[in-house]
Amino acid sequence: MKKISIAIDGPSAAGKSSIAKIVAKKLDYVYIDTGAMYRCVGYYCLQNNIDLGDEQAVSEVLKDIKITMDSENRVYLNDRDVSNEIRQDKVSMSASKVSSYQDVREFLVKQQRQMAKAGGVILDGRDIGTVVLPDAELKIYQSASVETRAMRRYLENRQRGLPADLETIKNDIEQRDYQDMNRKISPLKKADDAIVLDTSDLRIEEVVDEVLKLVKQKESEG
Ligand code: C5P
Repeated sequence: MKKISIAIDGPSAAGKSSIAKIVAKKLDYVYIDTGAMYRCVGYYCLQNNIDLGDEQAVSEVLKDIKITMDSENRVYLNDRDVSNEIRQDKVSMSASKVSSYQDVREFLVKQQRQMAKAGGVILDGRDIGTVVLPDAELKIYQSASVETRAMRRYLENRQRGLPADLETIKNDIEQRDYQDMNRKISPLKKADDAIVLDTSDLRIEEVVDEVLKLVKQKESEG
């Protein structure tokens, strides 16, 4: 059966990466966490005291940034494992800020397309179905209420040993949604041909089953 390309987009903390990781494992697909790449750029800027509001300064450091991922979904910034650090809330906000810059997007989108070239991939992010892989065979727009998303992120942070205050997390998510949906370049929006999955009242296994069903359908069509 032909392997396809799968795009999962949606707002912050909608559970996209949890679903994508499980589906990729079950189907022996490659999972590419594109949000982690924006997080690496934001994290690098924070670490090196680059003014996040200075677009030119952020563009200039891109040449010093190398991002790699391994098959266990660990993320490396210039060969250093930053998988945990990039999950901090301040890094989420910095990623959202730098993701509005054209040079940053071009730099990362090019790498994402290269990584996805062979097919058999599942990418999650904000612009996968609209910009990175407009020809993906399966596009999903995964969402959930802001309350559900905040609670999921709160529990995830606690599990990771990261700071967890529900109200702050909810405010951050709302701010990030606003920024991501209203930026000029590649804003988060549902691709016309994406299937909407509202996961507010679904368990992870139910969402996974739904996605697997959709993949099987598309694989057999191809
Ligand atoms: O998905 P995640 O929450 O890790 O993404 C962090 C930030 O990176 C998002 O808030 C968004 O601003 C940006 N991003 C993006 N395009 C993508 C993936 C993430 O702009 N494809």
